[in-house]
Amino acid sequence: MSVFGQTKLQAREEADEWRTAQRQFDLAADVIGLEPELRMVLREVQREFTCHFPVAMDDGRVEVFTGYRVQHNINRGPAKGGIRYHPDVSLDEVKALAMWMTWKCAVVNIPFGGAKGGVVVDRRRLSRRELEHLTRRFATEIGILIGPDRDIPAPDVNTDPQVMAWIMDTLSMHAGYSVTAAVTGKPIEVGGSLGRVEATGRGVTICALAAMEHLGMEPHRARVAVQGFGNVGSVAARLLEEAGCMIVAVSDEYGGLYNPNGLQVARLMEYRDREGRLQGFPGAEEIGSAGPLTADCDVLVPAAIGNQLTSRNARDVRARLIVEGANGPTTPEADEIFQSRGVFLVPDILANAGGVTVSYFEWVQDLQSFFWSEHEVNQKLQAIMHRSFAEVLKMSLEKGLPMRLAASALAVKRVASATRDRGLYP
Ligand code: GLU
Repeated sequence: MSVFGQTKLQAREEADEWRTAQRQFDLAADVIGLEPELRMVLREVQREFTCHFPVAMDDGRVEVFTGYRVQHNINRGPAKGGIRYHPDVSLDEVKALAMWMTWKCAVVNIPFGGAKGGVVVDRRRLSRRELEHLTRRFATEIGILIGPDRDIPAPDVNTDPQVMAWIMDTLSMHAGYSVTAAVTGKPIEVGGSLGRVEATGRGVTICALAAMEHLGMEPHRARVAVQGFGNVGSVAARLLEEAGCMIVAVSDEYGGLYNPNGLQVARLMEYRDREGRLQGFPGAEEIGSAGPLTADCDVLVPAAIGNQLTSRNARDVRARLIVEGANGPTTPEADEIFQSRGVFLVPDILANAGGVTVSYFEWVQDLQSFFWSEHEVNQKLQAIMHRSFAEVLKMSLEKGLPMRLAASALAVKRVASATRDRGLYP
């Protein structure tokens, strides 16, 4: 029945990412006064692809998996977006994530449209061999869609440079030559970019520091809580610590840790690499995976998965500043609560855009077969993140909009204008 005054149905509705994405879009479309025709077009995804494919498992059985690739909009350039492996992946979730990729690329003004892919699978259940076979077969299934000029995958939840290398190799074997620019987030040896692995966490850190500056918060006095200790959360925690912040809470999918006197990120990483999880780390209070969300802190970085900040817990959040490392961690209901309480939120499509920005650099480097130093990559990333943060903040202050709405409005405006310029075919 009702939990925290909310029925199960309401809770399910609130957690529906596609509804969230469309709602956020509607608000942005209202702000910029988007004409009804474009509203209809941009409110939907352009292409959605579902496949069911067999994989030979180690024990000789054949299992059939379901995967998706969705392209929301390709008016500003090739479709771009990651591939996630997760048991909860659904077509609606992938549609929302694809739409967010369109806005994300537009916010940082890189010449890509938005896409996303996913396979319904618990990666922890797969052996390395099964993971490779699943990846190669899925790459073959979506091979009719992807390519350097058309749609370029990248890592996302539970996928990594190795998975990208297999996708690139599969496409290359079919083509008969190496198509490095068809995938980003690859290992350096096969056309990856220096700085790509850290890029999302680095972008989150740049946004967090820019927001602190705007709010008059000193990094040396800021206590930071991070949910998720994967590629985004652990890097953001490390870089924020380097910038002088104190990391007081962290978590992964198995549990969380809290220490009001600070946790040392290098030690956490060592422990996580050795034990495969954070749980049991000495000298910290165990708080559960969702613990960091409501921990006593100044800055909160949700960097795990979607739907973590909802109407159920938003009032318990103590941070003054939220910087979204994950995609879609906040529901519209929680957004309203944060606005009414004056919480400053840097939205996902801006805060975590560092990843796709360096993916863009990787694609450019692959196409030119000319590679940059890590310093160059980081400098260019910093310039783009700073510019984008400033543009969104300006819009927010000028129009009196929360940062999420300002970012979406800016993005929708850019995509709408590209769509208008190109005109309606035929
Ligand atoms: N999956 C990442 C994201 O959500 C990166 C996408 C990319 O690099 O294409 O932004």
